[in-house]
Amino acid sequence: MNNEPIQTAITFTNVKKYFPEKDEVHSVLKGVSGKINQGTFIMIVGPSGSGKSTLLSMCNLLTTPDEGEINVLGKEIRKWDVAELRKKVGIAFQSAPILDGTVRDNMLLVQNLHNKQCYSPEQLCSLTGLSSDLLERDAKDLSGGQKQRLSLARTLSNASDILLLDEITSALDIAAAHEIEELIVQLNKEQNKTIIWVTHNLDQAKRLADEVWLLMDGKLIESADSSSFFNTPKHPETRAFLQGALL
Ligand code: ADP
Ligand code: MG
Repeated sequence: MNNEPIQTAITFTNVKKYFPEKDEVHSVLKGVSGKINQGTFIMIVGPSGSGKSTLLSMCNLLTTPDEGEINVLGKEIRKWDVAELRKKVGIAFQSAPILDGTVRDNMLLVQNLHNKQCYSPEQLCSLTGLSSDLLERDAKDLSGGQKQRLSLARTLSNASDILLLDEITSALDIAAAHEIEELIVQLNKEQNKTIIWVTHNLDQAKRLADEVWLLMDGKLIESADSSSFFNTPKHPETRAFLQGALL
């Protein structure tokens, strides 16, 4: 039996974010509070423009909160050294930026940047299901699915504890998306990585997540275990969102 106390990966406390919009200030996150335990697989859903990417990108300091606090692995986000934080918290996006050079060059990029070598390119290939025959290939010649694997390999290359994933399968066909899903599930189950995955695919959230969060108009409407979220949602907005998504 595992008696180790459950550690908190990330705590959001009344997080607010504003963006200027013409002469006005647009409130994008309106006081989000919530807690994510280490090893949990969370999926964040919600309409386009509801603040999902903004919330995610704060967790590795691509942007900062204007008000409130985000505690990551025991330290307030503003107290983290950015480079140190990004060794612990990796992020991957829908459109993986592929740089000039070979697949190997692309894989070594993050490690060179952070001066932290956790996996060899060969290990990263095996971890992400890419053939190591591709290592000397020009990265720009890879297929969409292979590019997404490469992007993930780069994110995984410094073995961060927390993975932030923003719509990473949205541009992939079903087969490629399922392979990426399997990889993420494996990382969660076998390496106890905390997964925070923004998706617009509710079926994906239903199948994979331990917990689902619904963001609407900058507010966290509901956060619940996956089964409760989909079968017995507490909030009328959640019910409306789920019904709308079924249309
Ligand atoms: P989602 O990921 O849920 O679609 P986002 O977090 O990307 O939503 O965006 C939420 C809102 O914040 C949108 O209205 C978007 O236009 C605005 N926004 C996001 N980033 C910026 C930025 N850097 N500058 C100005 N407005 C932004
Ligand atoms: Mg987004």
